[in-house]
Amino acid sequence: MTAAGTARAIQATPELAADADARFEGIADPVEQALAVLRWAGETFGDDFAVTSSMADGLLAHLASRAVPGVHVVFLDTGYHFAETIGTRDWISSVLPITLMNVTPPRTVAEQDAEHGPALHDRDPDLCCSLRKVQPLAAALAGYTAWGSGVRRDEAATRAGTRVVDWDAKRGMVKVNPLAAWTQDDVDAYIAEHQVPVNPLQEIGYASIGCAPCTRPVAPGEDPRAGRWAGRGKTECGLHV
Ligand code: SF4
Repeated sequence: MTAAGTARAIQATPELAADADARFEGIADPVEQALAVLRWAGETFGDDFAVTSSMADGLLAHLASRAVPGVHVVFLDTGYHFAETIGTRDWISSVLPITLMNVTPPRTVAEQDAEHGPALHDRDPDLCCSLRKVQPLAAALAGYTAWGSGVRRDEAATRAGTRVVDWDAKRGMVKVNPLAAWTQDDVDAYIAEHQVPVNPLQEIGYASIGCAPCTRPVAPGEDPRAGRWAGRGKTECGLHV
């Protein structure tokens, strides 16, 4: 086990990612698979590895902190989050052995409103996500060689082909998806067993939690991501595609 704080000079390549994916894909137990992938990333990349979290829950942060104590957890603080999400961020960073990397866009919401007009999220959500999520994450990840996300195959058709270790060609980085093979039952069982912090919005129907203007609760049985950018023909913010 390698604690974050040890930088390793290793080159990230598509071959490295494919080799690791082949090695870890066959691990049947989802918890063991996630921990193995995260340990590998920590041991291979040291301080050059970070995971991201939307703070819908602390699941990935919990697993990553078990595998890589002190792991960097990147949160995109867009300026549009629910108060509950900010509270969950503070809760997670206070109870787990992680290093919180709180990333803010170059412009505040007020500055963006002055430049582009108010409620850009309603008129051009792709531009808003680019300014407040995609570009800030690109800048934050520029300092790393590998990153991890909590993307799961069962979340959406666009995520069905997610690999546990992949090559992020857009950023020239290794991307690990330790939860790729997890089901909602796996998530619920781990959270209950380890008392992982969960965003309280989940209790009132917010199955997938993003910025407040672009997130609504979903009905029981409805696609969890149906509450994101509802009615706007948009399904992804651009971070994972
Ligand atoms: S999710 Fe909505 S408010 Fe947040 S950055 Fe994207 S468009 Fe803007």
